[in-house]
Amino acid sequence: MHNCSTVIIHCMDFRLINKIREWVDQNNLTNDTDIISIAGASKALSEDNKEIQNFILNQINVSYLLHNARKVILMHHSDCGAYGSYNFIDEEEEFAKQLEDMGIAEEIIKNSFDDIEVQKVWIQMNDHEGRNVEFINL
Ligand SMILES: [Zn+2]
Repeated sequence: MHNCSTVIIHCMDFRLINKIREWVDQNNLTNDTDIISIAGASKALSEDNKEIQNFILNQINVSYLLHNARKVILMHHSDCGAYGSYNFIDEEEEFAKQLEDMGIAEEIIKNSFDDIEVQKVWIQMNDHEGRNVEFINL
């Protein structure tokens, strides 16, 4: 058996991939995490579309059953294109909406798997290129 502790769900945004890899390394998760990369991270899980929800839950389930992962990290970020259609007034409004979606996703995950921990991480982008970003544990 090949086991890992964690499964990370992060946004597919190319601007953040290198920074996320660095964060994974700094948090001792290199070679210890599965990674699910989708637009908007857990946004699709929080929306009321059973087909898409089941697809994502099945992906988590592979990690849960096959690799024994017992922790899910939901990783969202500011300036996310998947949330572009909301036309937020400011970053605070964007953060509030994404935090709400992460909370819904967390509940769905906890209701779907026994003995699972959910951690929420916010990536604050301080420029549009992803050169200067901060990772904040929520
Ligand atoms: Zn994004």
